[in-house]
Amino acid sequence: MSPETCSGIDGWEVVIGLEVHAELATATKLFSGARNEFGGEPNTQVDPVSLGLPGSLPVLNEKAVELAIRVGLALNCVVQPSEFARKNYFYPDMPKDFQISQFDQPINGEGWLELPDGRRIGIERAHLEEDTGKSTHVGGGGRIHEASYSLVDYNRAGVPLIEIVGKPDLRSADDARAYVSELRAILVTIGASDGKMEEGSMRVDCNVSVRPVGEEELGTRCEVKNINSLRSLGRAIAYESRRQVDLITLGQKVDQQTRHWNEEEGRTHTLRSKEEAFDYRYFPEPDLVPVVPSTEWIDQIRMAMPLLPGERRHRLAEEADIRPEAAALAVERGLDDLALAAMDLGADPARVLVHVENNLADGQGTLTADGFAALVAMETGGELTATQAKTVLADLVSSGGDPALVAAAHGFEAMESSELEGLVESLIADHPEDWEAFVGGDESERKKKSGFFVGQIMKTTKGQADGRLVNEILERRSTSR
Ligand code: ADP
Ligand code: MG
Repeated sequence: MSPETCSGIDGWEVVIGLEVHAELATATKLFSGARNEFGGEPNTQVDPVSLGLPGSLPVLNEKAVELAIRVGLALNCVVQPSEFARKNYFYPDMPKDFQISQFDQPINGEGWLELPDGRRIGIERAHLEEDTGKSTHVGGGGRIHEASYSLVDYNRAGVPLIEIVGKPDLRSADDARAYVSELRAILVTIGASDGKMEEGSMRVDCNVSVRPVGEEELGTRCEVKNINSLRSLGRAIAYESRRQVDLITLGQKVDQQTRHWNEEEGRTHTLRSKEEAFDYRYFPEPDLVPVVPSTEWIDQIRMAMPLLPGERRHRLAEEADIRPEAAALAVERGLDDLALAAMDLGADPARVLVHVENNLADGQGTLTADGFAALVAMETGGELTATQAKTVLADLVSSGGDPALVAAAHGFEAMESSELEGLVESLIADHPEDWEAFVGGDESERKKKSGFFVGQIMKTTKGQADGRLVNEILERRSTSR
């Protein structure tokens, strides 16, 4: 894809870098034994540490570190010794007045993620930090300035987060969505997070800049917050890149800002500019020791990692002799193991993938690899037409069984080829001009006419005939005249 079509704005290239926060799927919080669970009654999953009460001290959750290392390994990062720091700022949803986060020594350094199309997107770092609580401003349209009062829920305070900072390697809204989808699939696969954007367990901040096509230097970026779905991500990028191009085209400058995405209005608003940026006065957290995972532990975690989506795409692609991108849907649907097993049993890879993509959107249900392979064999052997195979497959998915018996129960019996020959013959007799056009035509004309004959035969046999066999008969008759 050329930069022009990527950006959607002629002559301009959009540059995107994402910061993704994911809540880690631990039983308890990052620095205490309070439960880490979504949706409890407000302030029921708290303890002195998550409330920041004086005298309480943080104790690091080993499971959170393990999950962070898994994320690092899955994203091909350097897993390294790390340190926690205090990030100081005041907000009521953070009772200590500082957030414990990793700053200059993150647990995971540089890495990369591979998109389904094979492009690698750089990862800058993936570090551990604690989540904040949640405040609700009541009245005044939910804005703090006009609210009558505010409520705060500390259930989320202290929940472990991994912040994955991507390099500015994305070039379109489609790229950004593909990146987030892939990241989510990886996090879910390795059990690090449930990846639910709608419950806020995965949150995306989106940095956008624009530059003229061909320009090497990066433009000034804006960071867009409050993006709650893949759809908003795409809309926010489209809006924000347009806004920046319009500014520059009018001879103005893009101001480095943090902006807020408003889903209803479909636009971004200024939250704060660079001058108003917080000074967090980071310093090392004195109540925690550095985290130095041993090589043995890291190796142990690596050994226990499941196959990642990218690895599964490559595995299926190799077996079916297709591009990894073409294997993406099968992997996304979790049907790659079934497909591979059916191919192992001799089923034609192309037919297997056609069914996976077109006829198994709701999963395999009671379909087994044996049943799948047997069905595909009947189809490639000419015993079932593609339409009949689809019907039988639907039955195998909903109630299982032997494909041959299911086909028989539907009355799908292969037409005798002599019977088919007879039908083709009388069809030719009824349409002599079409037949002459088929026999004497060039490739495209022949294709058109064979489509016509096959269609007619399907009509008279109500889909019972095997289209490929009809084609074979047509070919044979036209060359043996
Ligand atoms: P900060 O510490 O202010 O968040 P970083 O340098 O860590 O700044 O960058 C944060 C994010 O912004 C990263 O995801 C990065 O890819 C992205 N980014 C940096 N520069 C640009 C740019 N010019 N255009 C788009 N994204 C950018
Ligand atoms: Mg940032």
